[in-house]
Amino acid sequence: MIKKEFKAESKRLLDMMIHSIYTQKEIFLRELISNASDAIDKIYYKALTDDNIVFNKDDYYIRITPDKENRTLTIADTGIGMTQEELENNLGIIAKSGSLAFKAENEAKDGHNIIGQFGVGFYSAFMVADKVTVTSKALGSDQAFRWQSEGADGYTIEPCEKDSVGTEIILKIKENTEDDRYDEYLEEYRLRSIIKKYSDFIRYPIKMEVSGQ
Ligand code: ADP
Ligand code: MG
Repeated sequence: MIKKEFKAESKRLLDMMIHSIYTQKEIFLRELISNASDAIDKIYYKALTDDNIVFNKDDYYIRITPDKENRTLTIADTGIGMTQEELENNLGIIAKSGSLAFKAENEAKDGHNIIGQFGVGFYSAFMVADKVTVTSKALGSDQAFRWQSEGADGYTIEPCEKDSVGTEIILKIKENTEDDRYDEYLEEYRLRSIIKKYSDFIRYPIKMEVSGQ
């Protein structure tokens, strides 16, 4: 008898995940902040063994910027960033966790706090956003790349400009519907309370910047 591998309809899988894995929409922020924190941790762990990398604590932070006028919420970090290939592998393959791989590779090193493991957290962004734009420049790379997706239809990747190493994720927040309100994810006080509730333990500063006012 021949053993066959399961196939998955990725569009439907993504749709299912966006609509049923999480019961509360607000946790998208926890997921994106934990990814940002993981990305900074990865530089921190690299610096432990690589003398060419100096980890100056003040240079590492997460910045949250709501912009009501443009209806965007931006989550930026000064972490390790992603190459074109990493954007493809980490954001283009559902349920493939780069963090799990990182943890396995770095098992011998002490005290790692990497949070990610299931490889699905990122996609929770689509619970509140109808378009997600990820601009990233990897540590040690000269070229930045932009990954963009409107959900189940797939994604594009193109070269772009970005001065500093790290990742910037721009969420185009959904319009309110009769049943669901999304405006609150552009409100500073609401974002602060979500951050306090789920991300209080994050080891790096989370800065809030309010623009469009
Ligand atoms: P997990 O965190 O469980 O690995 P996610 O779906 O949250 O899964 O993220 C998938 C992968 O995408 C991460 O493992 C990481 O490699 C990459 N990634 C996501 N966000 C960032 C970021 N801000 N900076 C660098 N890499 C990121
Ligand atoms: Mg994650």
